[in-house]
Amino acid sequence: MTRTALAILSRPSLDAPAHDGAIEPFALVDPTSPQLSALDLAATRGDGVFETISVGDGRPQALEPHLRRFARSAATLDLPAPDVDAWREAILSVVATLDPAPEAAIKTVLSRGVEGDGRPTGWVYGWIVGDHSRVRTEGVRVVVLDRGYRHDVERTSPWLLAGAKTLSYAVNRAVLREAARRGADDVIFVSSDGYVLEGPTSTVVYRRGGALFTPGTGLGILEGTTQGSLFTFAEERGMSTGYELLTPAELAEADDIWLVSSVRHAAPVREYEGRPMRVDAEFTAAMNDYLRTRVD
Ligand code: PLP
Repeated sequence: MTRTALAILSRPSLDAPAHDGAIEPFALVDPTSPQLSALDLAATRGDGVFETISVGDGRPQALEPHLRRFARSAATLDLPAPDVDAWREAILSVVATLDPAPEAAIKTVLSRGVEGDGRPTGWVYGWIVGDHSRVRTEGVRVVVLDRGYRHDVERTSPWLLAGAKTLSYAVNRAVLREAARRGADDVIFVSSDGYVLEGPTSTVVYRRGGALFTPGTGLGILEGTTQGSLFTFAEERGMSTGYELLTPAELAEADDIWLVSSVRHAAPVREYEGRPMRVDAEFTAAMNDYLRTRVD
């Protein structure tokens, strides 16, 4: 039984030296044995970037959009550019090592490495995921929390790294504890100037008048690969799609809201700020079937 697998990249970036003695671009190692130095900046400062990629029936989904976002996040942090070919090969090898399963996941991590060493650290971890069917059908209760940045932070203060998928996710976890204190399961962030942003691990997608929308890019939020796939799904069904800057009060007027992300896929919002929302079970199931079975 191989329910987890791990590959260590010997040269995560062609812009930095390889790790000692490396011949192959990556090595599959025992995922249960220690691999990371206690001095790695991933561990000591959260100084790195990551991606989480869903795997459906043995195929990584939206692999190229994930690799592009990985490279964009690395560039935002001034990390050496990931060698995308080596990462792709390592990902496919980890996926091939896992036991066959309908749903699995891959996490890629690129850190600045051990301080002063000059060589980034990179690894790919794969695991077979548990059952998400409950959250996909029953949905989540969400509260709106202030992220404390203006919606144009990405342009005005790029050093804050908004819109990069950095390893510093302590805030993204803390807000879930705050949600639980408020009797909710998840969060939608709002900018300090009052615009809907994203969830701590998801993109906000909503339907109004038969069209599918999302708040869009350039707001210091991640460009969601799942949202991208769902826009294709909607367009294939003749629906229109669009990007809108909107307030939480305007979002409350949507016909349906979903938090969408790789692995969990589409979780319908069944309660928004304490107010029950309609859940369209049939449409949500169609979205999740599409996401579960997409091949790229
Ligand atoms: N926004 C944030 C902050 C995330 O962490 C994630 C995914 O983890 C997303 C959005 C959704 O991105 P994707 O659909 O590519 O998984």
